[in-house]
Amino acid sequence: MIRRIKWPGWLLLLILVIVVSSFFFSLLKKNTETIQAQEVIVSHGQIIDENDQNFETKYSGIDVVSKTKQTEIYTSSIVVPETGIEAIDKNVHEWLRNKEKEFLEQVDLNKDIFNEEHLAHLNIQMTTQQITSHIYSFIFSNYQYYGGANGNQDITTFTIDLKKGKILELEEVLAVNKDSVDTIYQLAFSLLQEDEERFSFVFEDQLKDALTKPTNWKWSLSSDVFSLYFDKYEIAAGAVGLMQVDIPLDEILTYINEDILIDSEKVEVGDIDKEIIESEWKELDPNGKYVALTFDDGPHPKVTPQVLDTLSEYGAKATFYMLGTQVEYYPGLVQEVARLGHEIGNHSMSHPNLVTLEPKRIKHELEETSLQIEEAVGFRPSTMRPPYGSYNDGVISLISDIGIPMVLWSVDSLDWKSRDKDEINKVILNNVHDGAIILMHDIHQATADALPHLMKELDQQGYEFVTVSELLEQNHGEIGPHSKR
Ligand code: ZN
Repeated sequence: MIRRIKWPGWLLLLILVIVVSSFFFSLLKKNTETIQAQEVIVSHGQIIDENDQNFETKYSGIDVVSKTKQTEIYTSSIVVPETGIEAIDKNVHEWLRNKEKEFLEQVDLNKDIFNEEHLAHLNIQMTTQQITSHIYSFIFSNYQYYGGANGNQDITTFTIDLKKGKILELEEVLAVNKDSVDTIYQLAFSLLQEDEERFSFVFEDQLKDALTKPTNWKWSLSSDVFSLYFDKYEIAAGAVGLMQVDIPLDEILTYINEDILIDSEKVEVGDIDKEIIESEWKELDPNGKYVALTFDDGPHPKVTPQVLDTLSEYGAKATFYMLGTQVEYYPGLVQEVARLGHEIGNHSMSHPNLVTLEPKRIKHELEETSLQIEEAVGFRPSTMRPPYGSYNDGVISLISDIGIPMVLWSVDSLDWKSRDKDEINKVILNNVHDGAIILMHDIHQATADALPHLMKELDQQGYEFVTVSELLEQNHGEIGPHSKR
């Protein structure tokens, strides 16, 4: 039987979380003066090392890293795809850099209004649509938040051909002529009309204008639809936000370049191993000494396997707070983590600062991630950790509704800041205590390098390595060891 945290337990947990986090924030406050633009950057090319990459990406030929930054005035998270093909990467990365630059210029202009209670936020996330074994669309959503109720959001798309080694133009996918444009206009118009309420906000002249100018289209392709995207205000009142219309490929097949859809090599993604059984929680000895090692922002195809190897040497269990985007790309690695008996937690899809998002987007970030994890391993994560440890009352009430306990940490390894194995060990060993929840990131090589010494030392000090849920369960009805200082 898998034991779950029951209602009263995690009500208490929320209280504990607040205690732990206020401790954390008080530390953060103390350190603010000394914090220089802290950066957690997964540098380009770091993971693309085919010789020692143990785990295959789901989308053959494409790797992805989440590039996260945290400073005293802003947080940012950018999903960066890598194909190793210069003609593709150069353009996509340049676009990403420009978006980041645009954001940083805005932050710089308004830097006086931002502080730790009012952070600016940049979140560029990416959806991947596979068309054939070598043709994909990337749909980037660029969300910039400077305060107020909502941020600005826009969409940019790229369709890439790994075989041709380039970004495809619309003309290479579709015969662009009066006939095809007319057909797409008619289809899109009637599809949008189906949602009467939403359509009442659409300005028909602007819609016509947008649909009949294919040079301006933001488009993507999947194996069954051709999609068009419209930014906020582009064709409708602002209340509607972004709009998307999906035109079934069957309806426009005569215009689609047949090279695009013929694909003898299309490989279906392998069946998910539903044999993975969620590990049972171990009974802990009330007199024992326990720590929960936690690893955020992965899985990373190169660093995570090294972390798993070291954990296995000690028969240790740990908790991995995974990003949905990474889970989608590396399901085999997620399965391996679960098969080894580690706990998997929800760390959102794209690492947004949740306090800057509307409730429905927070919900989407968390539910989509749980779904990705469930698709990979067959069960849902038991706990969640908010990106940057950032939350407010709204976030707490929302995650209570979703019914997934929130867990922060009591020891921050600061691995994202130091990127130095000795420093990581020093920070952890100076602060470790019974019941500690230790924050690390399985996306930095220094973290994997620090682990053998750290575990040896903690093992010698009599600590046992358990998952977050085991630690929390033990404290059911008591004051948790993770709230000790
Ligand atoms: Zn994180």
